[in-house]
Amino acid sequence: MNSSTTHIARRGLLLVMSSPSGAGKTTLSRRLLAADANITMSVSVTTRTPRPGEVPGHDYFFISRQRFEEMIAGGELLEWADVFGNLYGTPRKPVEEALSQGRDVLFDIDWQGTQQLAQAMEDDLVRIFILPPTAEALRVRLINRAQDSAVVVAKRMAEAAREISHWPEYDYVVVNDEVEASHREIKAILQAERLRRRRRTGLTEFVRSLTKDL
Ligand code: 5GP
Repeated sequence: MNSSTTHIARRGLLLVMSSPSGAGKTTLSRRLLAADANITMSVSVTTRTPRPGEVPGHDYFFISRQRFEEMIAGGELLEWADVFGNLYGTPRKPVEEALSQGRDVLFDIDWQGTQQLAQAMEDDLVRIFILPPTAEALRVRLINRAQDSAVVVAKRMAEAAREISHWPEYDYVVVNDEVEASHREIKAILQAERLRRRRRTGLTEFVRSLTKDL
């Protein structure tokens, strides 16, 4: 039997996950994408160089600073920010396409991008901030990732406090102590947000047809 959510049309939503680097956000994003066919990842453009194992077009579109600036000038980016001296931005078109088809979009963007999305489309936005359980856990995860140089690790630890200071701007906070538990919390958030009355554009019609037979 289908649940009521599959019968009643709804608008897509924008699910933002922000955190300091190393809090486990990428793992949690992948888990969510694998567990839920209705949500797709927004693939950002960036001017930073790829890390080993990163796949162009999947993790990021790696582009030149000149091309990035052209995209800003052409209005091709929904939001963009300078993070650690590199530029990162969200291409507008795939997001608008997904939303118009009633699909949800997942964003791995920082607080600056989240603020811009909130200005542009607050009603469709759900913001989750991921925190590490301890400072030590964050340090260990950054070192174990072993993809960044020691200098970059130190820089990202220093940046973490600044990123974390933005937690009150988010709708939900998940403390990522154990991945499975955090994954369950994120799925619960998504499920509840999909059920919000204002997103469920098919409710009026549904209730009308329901009450005509009462
Ligand atoms: P990383 O270089 O570790 O992949 O990402 C560094 C930071 O940039 C992360 O906090 C990530 O969320 C953020 N970021 C990635 N893509 C975007 C984007 O398109 N826009 C914004 N504003 N931030 C992004």
